[in-house]
Amino acid sequence: MLNRRDFMKLGLGACLLPAVGCSRAEAVVSETMYVFGTLVGVDVLASDKAAARAAIADVSHAFTRQNRDWHAWKPGALGDLNRAIAAGRTHEVDDDLLPLLHQARDLARASGGLFNPAIGRLVGLWGFHNDEMPVGTPPHADAVAELVAAAPSMDDLVFDGSRVGSRNPQVQLDLGGHAKGVALNQALDRLATRGYADALVNLGGNLAVSGTRGGRPWRIGVRHPQGGHSDLRHSQNGGAIASLEVSGRMAVVTSGTYERYRQHGDRRYPHIIDPRSGQPATHVVSATVLHPDAARADVAATALVVAGAEAWPEVARSMGVSEVMLVDEAGRVQLTPGMAAKLEFVAPPASVTTVEIA
Ligand code: ADP
Ligand code: MG
Repeated sequence: MLNRRDFMKLGLGACLLPAVGCSRAEAVVSETMYVFGTLVGVDVLASDKAAARAAIADVSHAFTRQNRDWHAWKPGALGDLNRAIAAGRTHEVDDDLLPLLHQARDLARASGGLFNPAIGRLVGLWGFHNDEMPVGTPPHADAVAELVAAAPSMDDLVFDGSRVGSRNPQVQLDLGGHAKGVALNQALDRLATRGYADALVNLGGNLAVSGTRGGRPWRIGVRHPQGGHSDLRHSQNGGAIASLEVSGRMAVVTSGTYERYRQHGDRRYPHIIDPRSGQPATHVVSATVLHPDAARADVAATALVVAGAEAWPEVARSMGVSEVMLVDEAGRVQLTPGMAAKLEFVAPPASVTTVEIA
């Protein structure tokens, strides 16, 4: 079911700010769909609308497969692997999932373990393995401590060709911070293979573009992390904190603590968990990363939220991302010079600090 918020999410993820100069024969063909628990939009520049729609349908089918196969808690290929790991068995992994696991392991290492897709049990313990947002008392401290002490890590995985096992049965894989980035990359690849070199794919506010929008850059809105529902609706700027122009192969991915959380009284426990403490990351409200590789951008955005407002530059450096914007709980913005050069604030933030990470 689509709700108003989903529509806003999509709209704001890709504010295609007005007026496009497309060549006479070409126009933007747009489709929206609901996958990955979010609203998804695909725009391609095309002269043959019907052919473009067929290509987008292909992409849409791939999203549906990926959502099923890589789902963190519903039955599918990843679920099968998780069950085998819990039972101490090895498992044959298919050609789509296997490279994801290798990449997730490499990126987890690069993040110093702040991105850790092996902490599925913790994510589940906090109640996030559910379509509904959890409410009520946080999990018992002992239960959290036990899972932290079990130290599940991607380095526990043992790869033997396409057979995968884990030395640690407490590993439970959750690719929620990575899979959408992979899906974005593959969607652009799939469109390019079919001749659509100018495209924008928006997975619930995480975007990737290729080429241009008829010779002009794609214009993208980065959603204001602290805009509540009504703020977003009534805001003059449609709830965007900033806009930026991107062209060529580029992803703009935002991870935030404002979107999915456990509500208990007036406290919110976000869905991004610090693997070191087992506690939700609360001090950074959002991290936005620009990178040509959407998978790396997705993972880095999650890791930077965990890293927090002081440690993030070091983690960005080790993950090879240099175009970053962080917003903290007080609305203060930190950004790298690379990001500053591309971005325009829609509404002036509480403060803006430029941080060199190189
Ligand atoms: P979104 O999916 O909303 O865009 P993210 O990309 O930040 O947000 O992914 C958050 C998801 O990643 C969580 O819902 C959970 O499934 C998983 N996750 C939570 N904490 C971590 C972590 N420290 N490392 C890796 N994955 C995590
Ligand atoms: Mg992410």
